Amino acid sequence: MPLPIVILPTAEKWDCHQCGICCRGSLVPLSNEDVARLNEQKWAEHADYVGTKIMVPNPSTKNRFRLAQRKDGSCVFLKADGLCRIHAELGYEAKPTICRVFPLQLIPRGSDVALTIRRACPSSAADKGRLVKEHLPFIKDFVREGKLSADAVAPPLFKAGETRDWKTASLVFKTLSSLLQDLRYPPVRRIVHALQFTSLLEKAKTRGMDERKLAELITTLAQVVPEESKQFFSERRPPSLYARLVFHSIGIEYARLHPKYRALPTWSHRLQLAKATFRLVRGRGPLPDVSPAFPKARLEDLEHPLGQLAPEIDHPLARLIEASSESNLYALADRRGWTILESIRGLVATFPVGLWLLRWASQGREPTVDDMLQIVVALDRGQGFAALTGKLHRSRLRMMAAQGELERLVVWYAR
Ligand code: SF4
Repeated sequence: MPLPIVILPTAEKWDCHQCGICCRGSLVPLSNEDVARLNEQKWAEHADYVGTKIMVPNPSTKNRFRLAQRKDGSCVFLKADGLCRIHAELGYEAKPTICRVFPLQLIPRGSDVALTIRRACPSSAADKGRLVKEHLPFIKDFVREGKLSADAVAPPLFKAGETRDWKTASLVFKTLSSLLQDLRYPPVRRIVHALQFTSLLEKAKTRGMDERKLAELITTLAQVVPEESKQFFSERRPPSLYARLVFHSIGIEYARLHPKYRALPTWSHRLQLAKATFRLVRGRGPLPDVSPAFPKARLEDLEHPLGQLAPEIDHPLARLIEASSESNLYALADRRGWTILESIRGLVATFPVGLWLLRWASQGREPTVDDMLQIVVALDRGQGFAALTGKLHRSRLRMMAAQGELERLVVWYAR
Protein backbone atom coordinates (compact mmCIF):
# COMPACT_ATOMS: atom_id res chain seq x y z
CA MET A 1 0.00 0.00 0.00
CA PRO A 2 1.72 3.26 -1.09
CA LEU A 3 2.19 5.96 1.56
CA PRO A 4 0.69 9.43 1.02
CA ILE A 5 2.90 11.84 -0.92
CA VAL A 6 3.45 15.18 0.84
CA ILE A 7 4.91 18.50 -0.24
CA LEU A 8 7.57 20.13 1.96
CA PRO A 9 6.66 23.28 3.92
CA THR A 10 9.49 25.12 2.12
CA ALA A 11 8.31 26.42 -1.27
CA GLU A 12 10.45 24.53 -3.79
CA LYS A 13 10.11 25.51 -7.45
CA TRP A 14 11.32 24.10 -10.74
CA ASP A 15 10.73 23.93 -14.46
CA CYS A 16 13.17 22.62 -17.06
CA HIS A 17 14.99 25.44 -18.89
CA GLN A 18 16.79 22.96 -21.15
CA CYS A 19 20.36 23.82 -20.21
CA GLY A 20 21.41 20.16 -20.77
CA ILE A 21 23.51 20.07 -17.58
CA CYS A 22 21.79 16.91 -16.32
CA CYS A 23 23.14 15.00 -19.35
CA ARG A 24 26.72 16.06 -18.58
CA GLY A 25 28.47 15.01 -15.42
CA SER A 26 25.38 13.63 -13.63
CA LEU A 27 25.30 10.05 -12.39
CA VAL A 28 22.09 8.37 -13.56
CA PRO A 29 21.15 5.37 -11.37
CA LEU A 30 19.03 2.70 -13.06
CA SER A 31 16.18 0.74 -11.50
CA ASN A 32 15.94 -2.99 -12.25
CA GLU A 33 13.15 -2.14 -14.67
CA ASP A 34 15.38 0.41 -16.47
CA VAL A 35 18.15 -2.18 -16.76
CA ALA A 36 15.72 -4.73 -18.25
CA ARG A 37 14.31 -2.13 -20.68
CA LEU A 38 17.77 -1.01 -21.84
CA ASN A 39 18.72 -4.66 -22.41
CA GLU A 40 15.54 -5.19 -24.46
CA GLN A 41 16.46 -2.15 -26.57
CA LYS A 42 19.51 -4.13 -27.81
CA TRP A 43 21.97 -1.23 -27.88
CA ALA A 44 24.85 -3.71 -28.13
CA GLU A 45 23.65 -4.41 -31.70
CA HIS A 46 23.32 -0.72 -32.64
CA ALA A 47 26.03 0.33 -35.12
CA ASP A 48 27.15 3.22 -32.87
CA TYR A 49 27.29 1.16 -29.66
CA VAL A 50 28.99 -2.09 -30.63
CA GLY A 51 31.66 -2.66 -27.95
CA THR A 52 30.48 0.38 -25.93
CA LYS A 53 29.28 -0.13 -22.37
CA ILE A 54 25.95 1.59 -21.81
CA MET A 55 25.74 0.77 -18.07
CA VAL A 56 28.36 0.43 -15.35
CA PRO A 57 28.23 -0.80 -11.72
CA ASN A 58 27.05 1.79 -9.24
CA PRO A 59 28.66 1.19 -5.84
CA SER A 60 27.33 2.69 -2.57
CA THR A 61 23.75 3.18 -3.70
CA LYS A 62 20.78 0.85 -3.78
CA ASN A 63 20.65 0.83 -7.59
CA ARG A 64 23.24 -1.66 -8.79
CA PHE A 65 23.86 0.01 -12.17
CA ARG A 66 23.96 3.49 -13.64
CA LEU A 67 24.22 4.86 -17.18
CA ALA A 68 27.77 4.89 -18.54
CA GLN A 69 29.47 8.18 -19.29
CA ARG A 70 31.92 9.17 -21.98
CA LYS A 71 35.42 10.27 -21.06
CA ASP A 72 34.28 13.90 -20.86
CA GLY A 73 31.58 12.94 -18.33
CA SER A 74 28.64 13.26 -20.75
CA CYS A 75 25.93 10.60 -20.92
CA VAL A 76 26.71 7.75 -23.31
CA PHE A 77 23.38 8.49 -25.04
CA LEU A 78 23.90 12.26 -25.47
CA LYS A 79 24.05 13.14 -29.19
CA ALA A 80 26.21 15.88 -30.71
CA ASP A 81 23.06 17.98 -31.25
CA GLY A 82 22.40 17.93 -27.47
CA LEU A 83 19.46 15.54 -27.71
CA CYS A 84 19.03 12.14 -26.08
CA ARG A 85 19.52 9.23 -28.48
CA ILE A 86 17.06 6.95 -26.65
CA HIS A 87 14.42 9.68 -26.86
CA ALA A 88 15.25 10.46 -30.50
CA GLU A 89 15.18 6.84 -31.70
CA LEU A 90 12.67 5.12 -29.38
CA GLY A 91 10.65 7.92 -27.82
CA TYR A 92 10.31 9.57 -24.41
CA GLU A 93 8.77 6.48 -22.73
CA ALA A 94 11.87 4.42 -23.58
CA LYS A 95 14.19 6.57 -21.41
CA PRO A 96 15.28 5.51 -17.90
CA THR A 97 12.82 6.64 -15.23
CA ILE A 98 15.16 9.14 -13.58
CA CYS A 99 15.74 10.91 -16.93
CA ARG A 100 11.96 11.40 -17.15
CA VAL A 101 11.41 12.64 -13.61
CA PHE A 102 14.69 14.44 -12.76
CA PRO A 103 15.09 16.61 -10.71
CA LEU A 104 11.86 15.59 -8.91
CA GLN A 105 12.50 12.94 -6.27
CA LEU A 106 10.39 10.94 -3.85
CA ILE A 107 11.79 10.28 -0.38
CA PRO A 108 9.87 7.47 1.41
CA ARG A 109 9.86 8.14 5.17
CA GLY A 110 8.07 6.61 8.18
CA SER A 111 4.46 7.44 7.47
CA ASP A 112 4.63 9.49 4.26
CA VAL A 113 6.72 10.16 1.17
CA ALA A 114 8.22 13.62 0.63
CA LEU A 115 8.21 15.01 -2.90
CA THR A 116 11.29 17.21 -3.24
CA ILE A 117 13.47 18.66 -6.01
CA ARG A 118 17.15 17.81 -6.41
CA ARG A 119 19.29 20.91 -6.64
CA ALA A 120 21.67 19.27 -9.09
CA CYS A 121 19.71 21.26 -11.69
CA PRO A 122 20.55 24.98 -11.88
CA SER A 123 16.86 25.86 -12.35
CA SER A 124 15.85 24.12 -9.12
CA ALA A 125 18.96 25.44 -7.33
CA ALA A 126 17.59 28.90 -8.23
CA ASP A 127 13.96 27.93 -7.40
CA LYS A 128 12.98 28.87 -10.95
CA GLY A 129 9.66 27.56 -12.23
CA ARG A 130 6.36 26.19 -10.95
CA LEU A 131 5.80 25.15 -7.36
CA VAL A 132 6.52 21.49 -6.67
CA LYS A 133 2.82 20.80 -5.96
CA GLU A 134 2.09 21.45 -9.64
CA HIS A 135 4.33 18.50 -10.52
CA LEU A 136 2.51 16.20 -8.09
CA PRO A 137 -0.03 14.71 -10.57
CA PHE A 138 2.82 13.82 -12.96
CA ILE A 139 4.72 12.01 -10.18
CA LYS A 140 1.56 10.27 -8.95
CA ASP A 141 1.16 8.72 -12.42
CA PHE A 142 4.64 7.19 -12.10
CA VAL A 143 3.73 5.76 -8.69
CA ARG A 144 0.42 4.39 -10.02
CA GLU A 145 2.26 2.69 -12.90
CA GLY A 146 4.78 1.15 -10.43
CA LYS A 147 7.75 3.06 -11.94
CA LEU A 148 8.44 4.97 -8.72
CA SER A 149 8.04 3.55 -5.23
CA ALA A 150 6.03 5.24 -2.50
CA ASP A 151 6.20 2.20 -0.22
CA ALA A 152 7.34 2.25 3.39
CA VAL A 153 11.04 1.68 4.02
CA ALA A 154 12.97 0.70 7.18
CA PRO A 155 14.37 3.62 9.18
CA PRO A 156 18.09 4.31 8.72
CA LEU A 157 20.51 3.34 11.51
CA PHE A 158 20.25 5.69 14.47
CA LYS A 159 23.85 5.30 15.70
CA ALA A 160 26.55 2.77 14.87
CA GLY A 161 25.13 -0.66 15.79
CA GLU A 162 21.94 0.90 17.17
CA THR A 163 18.61 0.74 15.37
CA ARG A 164 15.49 2.56 16.50
CA ASP A 165 11.97 2.68 15.13
CA TRP A 166 10.59 5.40 12.87
CA LYS A 167 9.17 7.31 15.85
CA THR A 168 12.66 8.00 17.23
CA ALA A 169 14.21 8.46 13.78
CA SER A 170 11.50 11.02 12.92
CA LEU A 171 12.15 12.90 16.17
CA VAL A 172 15.88 13.12 15.36
CA PHE A 173 15.10 14.28 11.80
CA LYS A 174 12.63 16.86 13.05
CA THR A 175 15.02 18.16 15.71
CA LEU A 176 17.88 18.51 13.21
CA SER A 177 15.61 20.24 10.73
CA SER A 178 14.41 22.70 13.41
CA LEU A 179 18.00 23.46 14.44
CA LEU A 180 18.98 24.09 10.82
CA GLN A 181 16.00 26.38 10.29
CA ASP A 182 16.03 28.27 13.55
CA LEU A 183 15.85 31.82 12.19
CA ARG A 184 16.95 33.32 15.51
CA TYR A 185 20.49 32.46 14.40
CA PRO A 186 22.50 33.11 11.21
CA PRO A 187 23.14 30.07 8.93
CA VAL A 188 26.68 29.47 10.22
CA ARG A 189 25.43 29.20 13.82
CA ARG A 190 22.61 26.85 12.83
CA ILE A 191 25.08 24.53 11.11
CA VAL A 192 27.33 24.46 14.18
CA HIS A 193 24.28 23.80 16.40
CA ALA A 194 23.35 20.78 14.24
CA LEU A 195 26.91 19.46 14.43
CA GLN A 196 27.04 19.91 18.19
CA PHE A 197 23.68 18.18 18.60
CA THR A 198 25.04 15.29 16.54
CA SER A 199 28.23 15.05 18.63
CA LEU A 200 26.41 15.20 21.96
CA LEU A 201 23.87 12.59 20.90
CA GLU A 202 26.63 10.36 19.56
CA LYS A 203 28.50 10.53 22.89
CA ALA A 204 25.39 9.88 25.02
CA LYS A 205 24.95 6.28 26.20
CA THR A 206 21.62 5.56 24.54
CA ARG A 207 21.84 1.82 24.02
CA GLY A 208 19.03 0.17 25.98
CA MET A 209 17.47 3.55 26.85
CA ASP A 210 13.68 3.45 26.56
CA GLU A 211 11.90 5.53 23.95
CA ARG A 212 10.51 8.11 26.37
CA LYS A 213 13.87 8.81 28.03
CA LEU A 214 15.57 9.03 24.65
CA ALA A 215 12.96 11.54 23.45
CA GLU A 216 13.60 13.63 26.58
CA LEU A 217 17.34 13.48 25.97
CA ILE A 218 16.93 14.59 22.34
CA THR A 219 14.77 17.55 23.41
CA THR A 220 17.22 18.56 26.14
CA LEU A 221 20.24 18.36 23.84
CA ALA A 222 18.50 20.55 21.27
CA GLN A 223 17.99 23.17 23.98
CA VAL A 224 21.60 23.20 25.19
CA VAL A 225 23.41 23.24 21.83
CA PRO A 226 23.33 27.04 21.33
CA GLU A 227 25.25 27.42 24.61
CA GLU A 228 27.56 24.47 23.86
CA SER A 229 28.40 25.96 20.46
CA LYS A 230 29.45 29.39 21.69
CA GLN A 231 33.07 28.32 22.23
CA PHE A 232 33.57 27.88 18.46
CA PHE A 233 32.60 31.51 17.86
CA SER A 234 34.43 33.00 20.85
CA GLU A 235 37.69 31.09 20.15
CA ARG A 236 37.53 31.29 16.33
CA ARG A 237 40.39 28.82 16.29
CA PRO A 238 41.47 27.92 12.75
CA PRO A 239 41.03 24.26 11.78
CA SER A 240 44.13 22.10 12.25
CA LEU A 241 46.48 21.46 9.33
CA TYR A 242 45.27 17.84 9.25
CA ALA A 243 41.59 18.91 9.07
CA ARG A 244 42.37 21.36 6.28
CA LEU A 245 44.26 18.70 4.37
CA VAL A 246 41.30 16.30 4.53
CA PHE A 247 38.88 19.13 3.79
CA HIS A 248 40.82 20.22 0.68
CA SER A 249 40.69 16.67 -0.72
CA ILE A 250 36.92 16.67 -0.16
CA GLY A 251 36.67 20.10 -1.83
CA ILE A 252 38.53 18.85 -4.91
CA GLU A 253 36.22 15.82 -5.15
CA TYR A 254 33.23 18.18 -5.19
CA ALA A 255 35.00 20.48 -7.70
CA ARG A 256 35.09 17.53 -10.11
CA LEU A 257 31.28 17.42 -9.98
CA HIS A 258 31.00 21.03 -11.17
CA PRO A 259 28.90 21.27 -14.36
CA LYS A 260 31.86 22.82 -16.19
CA TYR A 261 34.23 20.01 -15.19
CA ARG A 262 35.58 18.15 -18.19
CA ALA A 263 37.29 14.87 -17.42
CA LEU A 264 40.65 14.73 -19.12
CA PRO A 265 41.81 11.17 -18.59
CA THR A 266 45.21 11.73 -20.17
CA TRP A 267 48.41 10.64 -18.42
CA SER A 268 49.62 14.23 -18.14
CA HIS A 269 46.35 15.22 -16.44
CA ARG A 270 46.63 12.27 -14.04
CA LEU A 271 50.19 13.28 -13.24
CA GLN A 272 49.06 16.84 -12.64
CA LEU A 273 46.36 15.63 -10.19
CA ALA A 274 48.89 13.42 -8.38
CA LYS A 275 51.25 16.39 -7.99
CA ALA A 276 48.35 18.51 -6.77
CA THR A 277 47.53 15.89 -4.13
CA PHE A 278 51.13 16.08 -2.90
CA ARG A 279 50.82 19.87 -2.65
CA LEU A 280 47.65 19.46 -0.59
CA VAL A 281 49.76 17.62 1.99
CA ARG A 282 52.04 20.66 2.28
CA GLY A 283 48.99 22.92 2.61
CA ARG A 284 50.18 25.38 -0.05
CA GLY A 285 50.94 25.69 -3.74
CA PRO A 286 48.87 25.82 -6.95
CA LEU A 287 45.52 24.04 -7.10
CA PRO A 288 44.93 21.49 -9.89
CA ASP A 289 43.35 22.53 -13.15
CA VAL A 290 40.00 20.74 -12.73
CA SER A 291 37.56 22.91 -14.64
CA PRO A 292 37.25 26.19 -16.56
CA ALA A 293 34.98 27.25 -13.67
CA PHE A 294 37.97 27.31 -11.31
CA PRO A 295 40.72 29.74 -12.35
CA LYS A 296 44.37 29.31 -11.48
CA ALA A 297 44.76 29.79 -7.75
CA ARG A 298 46.94 28.71 -4.86
CA LEU A 299 45.66 26.80 -1.85
CA GLU A 300 46.67 29.63 0.46
CA ASP A 301 44.57 32.12 -1.64
CA LEU A 302 41.42 30.30 -0.50
CA GLU A 303 42.11 30.87 3.19
CA HIS A 304 41.28 34.60 3.08
CA PRO A 305 37.92 35.85 4.43
CA LEU A 306 35.18 36.19 1.84
CA GLY A 307 33.51 39.01 3.74
CA GLN A 308 29.78 39.62 3.88
CA LEU A 309 28.07 37.97 0.91
CA ALA A 310 24.95 39.41 -0.70
CA PRO A 311 21.91 37.41 0.51
CA GLU A 312 21.12 36.28 -3.05
CA ILE A 313 24.57 34.58 -3.23
CA ASP A 314 24.19 32.84 0.14
CA HIS A 315 20.62 31.82 -0.60
CA PRO A 316 21.06 28.78 -2.95
CA LEU A 317 23.46 27.12 -0.48
CA ALA A 318 21.14 27.75 2.46
CA ARG A 319 18.21 26.39 0.39
CA LEU A 320 20.11 23.19 -0.44
CA ILE A 321 20.59 22.46 3.26
CA GLU A 322 17.08 23.58 4.21
CA ALA A 323 15.28 21.43 1.61
CA SER A 324 17.47 18.39 2.21
CA SER A 325 16.93 18.56 5.97
CA GLU A 326 13.16 19.02 5.58
CA SER A 327 12.78 16.10 3.21
CA ASN A 328 15.43 13.98 5.06
CA LEU A 329 16.94 13.35 1.61
CA TYR A 330 20.47 13.59 3.04
CA ALA A 331 19.93 10.40 5.08
CA LEU A 332 17.33 8.50 3.06
CA ALA A 333 18.82 8.68 -0.45
CA ASP A 334 22.10 7.13 -1.54
CA ARG A 335 24.01 6.97 1.77
CA ARG A 336 23.86 3.24 2.38
CA GLY A 337 25.09 2.13 5.80
CA TRP A 338 25.40 5.67 7.17
CA THR A 339 23.68 6.47 10.47
CA ILE A 340 21.40 9.50 10.68
CA LEU A 341 24.06 11.32 12.68
CA GLU A 342 26.75 10.54 10.11
CA SER A 343 24.49 11.65 7.27
CA ILE A 344 23.85 15.04 8.83
CA ARG A 345 27.62 15.57 8.85
CA GLY A 346 27.65 14.69 5.15
CA LEU A 347 24.99 17.33 4.52
CA VAL A 348 26.37 20.20 6.60
CA ALA A 349 29.92 19.62 5.36
CA THR A 350 28.63 20.97 2.03
CA PHE A 351 28.38 24.41 3.68
CA PRO A 352 32.14 25.05 4.19
CA VAL A 353 32.92 23.17 0.96
CA GLY A 354 30.51 25.45 -0.92
CA LEU A 355 32.16 28.57 0.51
CA TRP A 356 35.66 27.22 -0.22
CA LEU A 357 34.66 26.49 -3.83
CA LEU A 358 33.11 29.96 -4.10
CA ARG A 359 36.46 31.49 -3.08
CA TRP A 360 38.13 29.41 -5.81
CA ALA A 361 35.55 30.11 -8.55
CA SER A 362 35.67 33.87 -7.88
CA GLN A 363 39.43 34.31 -7.48
CA GLY A 364 40.41 37.87 -8.45
CA ARG A 365 36.82 39.10 -8.75
CA GLU A 366 33.55 39.37 -6.83
CA PRO A 367 31.51 36.16 -6.44
CA THR A 368 28.23 36.00 -8.35
CA VAL A 369 24.90 34.23 -7.91
CA ASP A 370 25.72 32.09 -10.94
CA ASP A 371 28.99 30.91 -9.30
CA MET A 372 26.98 29.74 -6.32
CA LEU A 373 24.23 28.08 -8.39
CA GLN A 374 26.79 25.98 -10.27
CA ILE A 375 28.51 25.08 -6.98
CA VAL A 376 25.17 23.97 -5.51
CA VAL A 377 24.72 21.69 -8.54
CA ALA A 378 28.10 20.09 -7.71
CA LEU A 379 27.26 19.79 -4.00
CA ASP A 380 23.93 18.11 -4.71
CA ARG A 381 25.56 15.73 -7.18
CA GLY A 382 27.83 14.61 -4.33
CA GLN A 383 24.80 12.94 -2.70
CA GLY A 384 24.97 10.15 -5.29
CA PHE A 385 28.74 10.09 -5.92
CA ALA A 386 30.59 6.98 -4.64
CA ALA A 387 33.62 8.88 -3.27
CA LEU A 388 31.34 11.13 -1.21
CA THR A 389 28.87 8.50 -0.01
CA GLY A 390 31.29 5.66 0.75
CA LYS A 391 33.06 4.45 3.89
CA LEU A 392 36.16 6.62 3.46
CA HIS A 393 34.16 9.86 3.37
CA ARG A 394 32.06 8.70 6.32
CA SER A 395 35.11 7.94 8.43
CA ARG A 396 36.98 11.15 7.58
CA LEU A 397 33.91 13.17 8.59
CA ARG A 398 33.65 11.12 11.78
CA MET A 399 37.32 11.74 12.61
CA MET A 400 37.00 15.49 12.05
CA ALA A 401 33.78 15.63 14.08
CA ALA A 402 35.41 13.80 17.02
CA GLN A 403 37.97 16.62 17.31
CA GLY A 404 35.48 19.48 16.81
CA GLU A 405 37.24 20.18 13.49
CA LEU A 406 34.06 20.15 11.41
CA GLU A 407 32.68 23.01 13.49
CA ARG A 408 35.99 24.89 13.12
CA LEU A 409 35.93 24.40 9.34
CA VAL A 410 32.36 25.75 9.19
CA VAL A 411 33.25 28.86 11.22
CA TRP A 412 36.57 29.38 9.37
CA TYR A 413 35.21 29.27 5.81
CA ALA A 414 32.07 31.26 6.70
CA ARG A 415 34.30 34.31 7.38
S1 SF4 B 1 19.65 20.46 -15.60
FE1 SF4 B 1 17.53 21.08 -15.12
S2 SF4 B 1 17.09 22.82 -16.49
FE2 SF4 B 1 18.93 21.78 -17.27
S3 SF4 B 1 18.12 20.32 -18.81
FE3 SF4 B 1 18.30 19.19 -16.86
S4 SF4 B 1 16.29 19.40 -15.87
FE4 SF4 B 1 16.38 20.94 -17.50
